[in-house]
Amino acid sequence: MISRGTAGFEGARVDRIFNRRLPERQPAAVVRPETEADVVTAVRLARDRGWQVAVRSGGHSWAQWSLRDDALVIDLGGLREMEYDAATGIVTASPSTQGGAELAPYLAERGRFFVGGHCPTVGIGGFLLQGGQGWNARGWGWAAEYVVAVDVVTADGELVRADATQNTDLYWAARGAGPGFPGVVTRFHLQTRPLPGHVAHTVQAFDLADFDEVMTWLHETHGTVADTVEIVALTRTDPHLAPGPVLLVTALAMVDDQHEADQALAPFRTNPAIDRAILVIDNEPTTPEAERARQLEDNPEGHRWAVDNAWLSGPASEVVPAMRRAYTTLPNEKAFTIWFSMAPLRALPDMAFSVQSEIYLAAYVPWEDPVDDERHQAWLASVMADLAPVTVGQYLGDSDLRRRPHRCLSEEASARLEQVYAERDPERLFVGYLAQASVRRPLVG
Ligand SMILES: Cc1cc2nc3c(=O)[nH]c(=O)nc-3n(C[C@H](O)[C@H](O)[C@H](O)COP(=O)(O)OP(=O)(O)OC[C@H]3O[C@@H](n4cnc5c(N)ncnc54)[C@H](O)[C@@H]3O)c2cc1C
Repeated sequence: MISRGTAGFEGARVDRIFNRRLPERQPAAVVRPETEADVVTAVRLARDRGWQVAVRSGGHSWAQWSLRDDALVIDLGGLREMEYDAATGIVTASPSTQGGAELAPYLAERGRFFVGGHCPTVGIGGFLLQGGQGWNARGWGWAAEYVVAVDVVTADGELVRADATQNTDLYWAARGAGPGFPGVVTRFHLQTRPLPGHVAHTVQAFDLADFDEVMTWLHETHGTVADTVEIVALTRTDPHLAPGPVLLVTALAMVDDQHEADQALAPFRTNPAIDRAILVIDNEPTTPEAERARQLEDNPEGHRWAVDNAWLSGPASEVVPAMRRAYTTLPNEKAFTIWFSMAPLRALPDMAFSVQSEIYLAAYVPWEDPVDDERHQAWLASVMADLAPVTVGQYLGDSDLRRRPHRCLSEEASARLEQVYAERDPERLFVGYLAQASVRRPLVG
């Protein structure tokens, strides 16, 4: 254990944190378990010392949720396990496993695939607990839907298995409560999918002047596209295409063969602005590795970040104008805003994750100089304010509940989670949500 004020504490506090706009929050100590037994010991130690517990898996929370004042940080980076059972198709993995950089290649060697996060370095721990918007979530669902069991150290310091038949309250909460989960997950048991036989993409680039026409067409069209296609529209700067930001419509088909990809991607040929496109790539073969490498480039390490998001709902005539400034006024050349299709909306199973809509919008602003902190955060706040009339909630994964709390769980799920807390962690050993002090129940906005 490395206590505050001792050598090595600052490194243990922040070295594994992705967002380098580091907060001042000072935990009491950081512990780095190497076994499940160490996690049990750490939880019991926190109880004895009267500390709360914060957990870190991959360290990629934008709002650095693992850093909490006066808490014991249980940093799971040293728990390393990955095992695949060919008979069931279930992989077990430690929470700090990187979904794209570690789990994906391990499974690919075995002909299997998991709907992990887009950026390869994200830890599966925080990602899965908050729902997990992985590859082709619109067709294949939330990654949390593939969690068949979790092993959990509870507030009592007991190691238990939670699944559909035992400790079902924890199993329910582990699929969506995110940083509000009352326990430390030490192992995930995940159902895998067959590795797609063929991956191909369509990419169309447009001048921002075409934004309204293209996005109105996409709004009307995306719900009709085959459920094997991930659809993302984004604006970003690519000097190979234009000096300033461009609008990119991207469609990634994960299918069996070239013919199926051609059919699945056909609707994108109906884009009414296609004759004005700066670039058209139509049904070109690609690979999951190439797609992940691109994500790594778009999400550079060593940067300060401000990120926000919204679930949008409404007709194109209301949604498109509300989105316009988030896409057409990016504050620097590394910033990007994505529009991620979830249409047609799939019904969710009974799990804590409970708020979504057909359109997910998230804006990401990386920068390096602290002098830009206020300007970039002000830009983000102002474009998110434009979206308020068409916003129905937000996704925990890209949220900072201290800056803009909005509904992340349904009212019913939020009440049920409070019940789980009352039974599992009445003394609030686990830190829970980092939200505005004035908001009692940030999840219901
Ligand atoms: C570059 C980048 C790309 C991203 N891309 C995606 C994406 O494609 N899809 C998506 O859905 N999200 C994405 N995210 C968001 C990401 O999934 C969340 O930030 C997630 O919380 C990161 O998980 P982590 O384990 O790395 O983070 P951490 O910061 O380690 O964990 C976040 C919090 O989750 C809780 N937690 C984590 N592990 C445990 C555990 N084992 N037991 C109990 N509680 C735990 C704790 O409260 C912890 O503080 C991205 C983030 C980044 C930085």
